[in-house]
Amino acid sequence: MNQCEIPLVRTGDMDADVLVVGAGGAGYPAAFRLAESGRRVVMADPKGELGGNCLYSGCIPSKTLRELCQISIRARRLLSWPGPVDFADLQRQRDAVQQIRFGQHQEELREHPGVTFLKGSVELLGKGRARIQGPEGITEVSAPGMILGTGTRVRRPDFPGAELCLTSDDLFSFGAPRIELPSELAVVGGGYIALEVASLFSALGSKVRVLVRSDTLLRNVDPELVSLLHGALHDFSIEFQAPVERVESAGGRRRVVYHSRGQERTVEADAVVIAAGREPVLPQGWKRTGIALDPRGFVVTDEGLMTSVSGIYAVGDVNGRAPYFHAAVRESLVAAHNLMAGNRRIDVMDYGSVPVTIFTFPSLAYVGITASVARRQGIPTVVARAALSEDSRAQMVQEREGEVRLFFQPGSLRLLGGWVIGISASELINEIGLAVSSGLTARDLAEFADQHPTTNEAISKTARTLL
Ligand SMILES: Cc1cc2nc3c(=O)[nH]c(=O)nc-3n(C[C@H](O)[C@H](O)[C@H](O)COP(=O)(O)OP(=O)(O)OC[C@H]3O[C@@H](n4cnc5c(N)ncnc54)[C@H](O)[C@@H]3O)c2cc1C
Repeated sequence: MNQCEIPLVRTGDMDADVLVVGAGGAGYPAAFRLAESGRRVVMADPKGELGGNCLYSGCIPSKTLRELCQISIRARRLLSWPGPVDFADLQRQRDAVQQIRFGQHQEELREHPGVTFLKGSVELLGKGRARIQGPEGITEVSAPGMILGTGTRVRRPDFPGAELCLTSDDLFSFGAPRIELPSELAVVGGGYIALEVASLFSALGSKVRVLVRSDTLLRNVDPELVSLLHGALHDFSIEFQAPVERVESAGGRRRVVYHSRGQERTVEADAVVIAAGREPVLPQGWKRTGIALDPRGFVVTDEGLMTSVSGIYAVGDVNGRAPYFHAAVRESLVAAHNLMAGNRRIDVMDYGSVPVTIFTFPSLAYVGITASVARRQGIPTVVARAALSEDSRAQMVQEREGEVRLFFQPGSLRLLGGWVIGISASELINEIGLAVSSGLTARDLAEFADQHPTTNEAISKTARTLL
């Protein structure tokens, strides 16, 4: 049933302590925490499921495909397993994992009777008042506290033929129509989603070409780290300063017309994926609340996640600060704690220790202050590093490329940040992030018996080089 067909039945009014708008990583952790503390919570999301875009079309489906792909790469390389991978089967498994998690969230909802979850879209009527419209009709909610966690959506560039291209939604959304594995794929964009898609499809066997508008990849990442990653991405080609002009149909294929060094050029492929960023989603009526937006359209918040209006919080991707699921979850809890304290800032978000992973092959992860950031901000550092070629687990699976690099404060040797490029980067960065947020030193790390044989051993080994 589409929005126009929804009967405008008024299903009643509800009083709550907190209204949570959106049930993604930014929404449900706060809803559960608040309900556990005895607050009456109403949470709404038009998907009618918890997990937001991370589960529906982002992290979980993309990383399910990546995990399966990783298994096939290792099996081919180490066991001479013949392949090829059945892409239709991978897509079925992607949906199955999503289904498991939807079910798990339903169970969590049943365990939290203090949360009333409505399937529907929220329109804000002002501070403390909202209307939820869903398949059952319209519900008006009064709640002195509000948490906005409405996330972001795919941004489609406005060049002609953009509608002929696929986006991450087409590749990863729950139950999305099956797509054929393209023999040749063009990817437009130089951010992390573009690189992850390029890496995934080239590992699956597609010939991939990436077109980047500017002369850099991963604009917000330490340039030294980006150049290490660039050097390690052997499986697909990347063309810089290649702005796309238009995309055309070409006999069942796609032709991308772009500019390069003053000349018009073309590339043909079976499919084109655009990954040109994401834009904030704001609930209808947001202007009635008086919340302020930044120049990019994201909601402005303080370190306690409160907006410019007392009692209204904005967490997760919609505030544009750290657009990752784990950051959204932590922000959600910070907002819940401050709401529980009567809008006093008793908890704050530590953005300096949020780990980030780019899930390419090989992957790259970082946290805190790294080389170029330290140089730019004039922060002196002592640097320690260890090559992963010497790591036993890297040797077992013959993925010996990469390194761990840690950045310490001179004198105290307190850990300020670090990066990992190569095997297990996404796991190692958690230990490094915890050490950064806990203010641990090189000695603390060096004296910890990281388990053998895991790649984490590289962390204590790196720290020991300084002692
Ligand atoms: C392809 C891809 C891969 C990604 N991979 C990773 C990864 O590996 N690791 C990682 O940490 N992050 C990853 N991300 C980012 C991650 O998905 C987001 O950071 C995370 O989903 C943010 O959570 P959120 O709750 O803020 O927003 P969302 O997950 O976007 O959820 C917002 C929810 O609000 C709902 N909503 C919108 N408007 C309204 C309204 N008016 N009323 C009620 N509800 C509304 C939406 O339906 C949605 O369910 C990936 C993203 C993409 C696109």
